Amino acid sequence: MKVNQNYKKLRDNYLFVEIGRRTSAFWETHPETDIVRLGIGDVTQPLCPAVVDALKTASEEMGTVAGFHGYGPEQGYAFLREAIRDAYGARGVSLDASEIFISDGAKSDTGNMLDIFDRDNVVLVPDPVYPVYVDTNLMLGREVIFAGGVEENRFLPMPDPRVRADIIYLCSPNNPTGAVYGREALREWVDYARAQKALILFDAAYECFIRDDSLPRSIYEIEGAYDCAIEFCSLSKTAGFTGTRCGYTVVPHALEYEGTRLNKMWLRRQTTKFNGVPYIIQRGAQAVFTPEGQRQVREITDYYLGNARILADMLDRLGVFYTGGRHAPYLWLKCPGGLGSWEYFDFLLTKAHVVGTPGAGFGQNGEGFFRLSSFGDRARVQTAVERILAL
Ligand code: PLP
Repeated sequence: MKVNQNYKKLRDNYLFVEIGRRTSAFWETHPETDIVRLGIGDVTQPLCPAVVDALKTASEEMGTVAGFHGYGPEQGYAFLREAIRDAYGARGVSLDASEIFISDGAKSDTGNMLDIFDRDNVVLVPDPVYPVYVDTNLMLGREVIFAGGVEENRFLPMPDPRVRADIIYLCSPNNPTGAVYGREALREWVDYARAQKALILFDAAYECFIRDDSLPRSIYEIEGAYDCAIEFCSLSKTAGFTGTRCGYTVVPHALEYEGTRLNKMWLRRQTTKFNGVPYIIQRGAQAVFTPEGQRQVREITDYYLGNARILADMLDRLGVFYTGGRHAPYLWLKCPGGLGSWEYFDFLLTKAHVVGTPGAGFGQNGEGFFRLSSFGDRARVQTAVERILAL
């Protein structure tokens, strides 16, 4: 038996382990300190009532002969796919329900999607970015090249026509930088992908934080995207489903490479390797798309954006360079005084008792930067701000 040697190319996944280790070590020697955590990428607000009611009703149903559901359709129940289609439709994006695939989250689907692509593809990934894109490709032995996000482009790298790529990852609003592509910028990426006959993998996991209608929430708002982009989305941040697990992936019928339709391939892959998201969870997810559900989840994302606003005001007062915090739950700041990411982590931990995430964990270009998350409790965010301002 031979193991997959590509795993040796992965960087140790030490970011959150190291954050935990340094935080515990500090706390053990300073047990009286009250540490505020602004490092987590997980949500903290509970599921909204509309979702809880739907989950309860579906659970009751499952305990009856008439309402029991066994194996469901691998692609997802039509009631949920149609609700998602209608939500896209309300924003002017026309999809067929058969182009939508229900998943247990965007993380799995971004990784699993690679099954349907040949190993010999050049993969272009922004740096810094959500590390899953790089790792899942390295695991398969693919070559990964980077599009550099830097202070000068406000962490929104643009295509370079001299660079050839087959698969292009884009994440907007971005984790970790909170940066959001405008329509013109996305159009450039779509034009580049079409010129190269490449495929864009667009991660829209944070689209629900966009509050400005002039900013695209879906890649399909850009002309020409239907035949060059797959979109991943998730209810994790939209509706607090990080533990409940439900997302969706759009694979348009128009996507055709080497005479093969990607929608057909992905359906084949899913029907072979995936047995669907639980009926109860899909009913809970459906409730997110009702008017009541939309109102309730909006209140929650508004709450996080309110936290982000408080953090952004603090950075404005401090005159620190940052991106994000406006249409995104993350703020990405330049470490003051030329400190490295981990140096700034230690500084904040020991002087303000605030924990954030060192940017170096998200790629080479993240060194010297730092991520703050707005997924916490309002009073705790305010405490953190008071302490940082007092430094
Ligand atoms: N995509 C991005 C950019 C993320 O930051 C995350 C989670 O942090 C995910 C996907 C994962 O989403 P899910 O919970 O749906 O797997």
